Amino acid sequence: MTFAGRMSKVTVSPTLKVAADAERLRRAGVDVVDLGAGEPDFATPAHVKQAAHRALDGNFTKYTPTPGVMELREAVAQRYQADYGVSFTPEEVIITAGAKQALYNSAMALFDAGDEVITHGPFWPSIGDQVKLAGAAPVIVQTHMEDGFTIKAAPIVEAITPRTKAIIVNSPCNPTGAVISETEMAAIADAATARGIWVIVDFTYEKLIYEPVAHNLIKVLFDRMRDKTVICSAASKAYAMTGWRCGWAIGPKDVIAQMNVVQGHSTSNINSITQKAAIAALTGPQDGVTAMLNEYRHRRDAVHGWLTGDSRIVCVKPSGAFYLFPYIADLLSPAGILSSGEFAEALLKEVAVAVTPGEGFDAPGYFRLSYATSMERLKEGCERIKAFVRTLESTGKLTAAR
Ligand code: GLU
Repeated sequence: MTFAGRMSKVTVSPTLKVAADAERLRRAGVDVVDLGAGEPDFATPAHVKQAAHRALDGNFTKYTPTPGVMELREAVAQRYQADYGVSFTPEEVIITAGAKQALYNSAMALFDAGDEVITHGPFWPSIGDQVKLAGAAPVIVQTHMEDGFTIKAAPIVEAITPRTKAIIVNSPCNPTGAVISETEMAAIADAATARGIWVIVDFTYEKLIYEPVAHNLIKVLFDRMRDKTVICSAASKAYAMTGWRCGWAIGPKDVIAQMNVVQGHSTSNINSITQKAAIAALTGPQDGVTAMLNEYRHRRDAVHGWLTGDSRIVCVKPSGAFYLFPYIADLLSPAGILSSGEFAEALLKEVAVAVTPGEGFDAPGYFRLSYATSMERLKEGCERIKAFVRTLESTGKLTAAR
């Protein structure tokens, strides 16, 4: 069978593949410690679930307008007004199936064949592949472990060419956890404005920042380039709602209208019941968000300590999101495990721990570990990883070629 040419440029989502592999083992009865998929282990808050029950009991089960019900778009606007002091109308919002569809709609509405779209690496795989699905070319500006994967404006601005259509910034970043400073964001915005380039922010982890750093990216961008800014975010991480599939894009009315056309021909509105639940999440009490953040901070510190207890594992302590991104080149060897891809495969096979290999983020030599799981499972996972490393050592697979 001959598939469309675009399919040869993209691959299966590596993050979702790890989740599927772990699930397959679990169904076969294996006790898998799943540190692969990035999704909160917390239950969706009770008041959010109750809103969904009410929607179902009230037969709120029909189509809604494609961009989402007015009340939900207003709830997004009110949330951002309260959190960031910015104002926009419901016509500047579209409700999507997660931030993923918000980003996908943006790619479809804005990018053409021949366009270049700059983003920073290591990057979440769907960002690059969505750009390719739109026919455009991703241009990756690497960030570096040595300086905490800091996202800097200068190399991004240097990568701009006459073909650059947009810059995508993901902060806090999946997989590195890096948080861009407002100053660097402003510098990117100034350069983009001068050249008429779009800035798209993947803001999925906006509520998961552990240090007291200013991160009002939407205000920075609205103040400088409101007519060329798109913000993509979701209820998934902040409110432990991954499976409900609720995200949104915020942007100028005309681009949101174009995204609405894309969505109207693909998925239509997101699930009607989810929309009612999301209204409750956005307008209800926000203290659960802070409680989860505090718990994630404990887990980050604990897992970071456990892993870096082995000096061969080098790991930045990230400021945001819920991932660690350890560098494990010292655990690779021609006599043993050759790549981080093989390392992740062997971890799953030998000790039933699922992690996502760095290759999935265009960063071989690393793996991504999600700490959005209970402290007990994290401890178990880290112990298994260390036991695995000890086995490599005792069988001479670590040092032989060094
Ligand atoms: N964003 C999560 C992750 O990176 C979920 C998987 C996905 O949608 O790619 O693990």
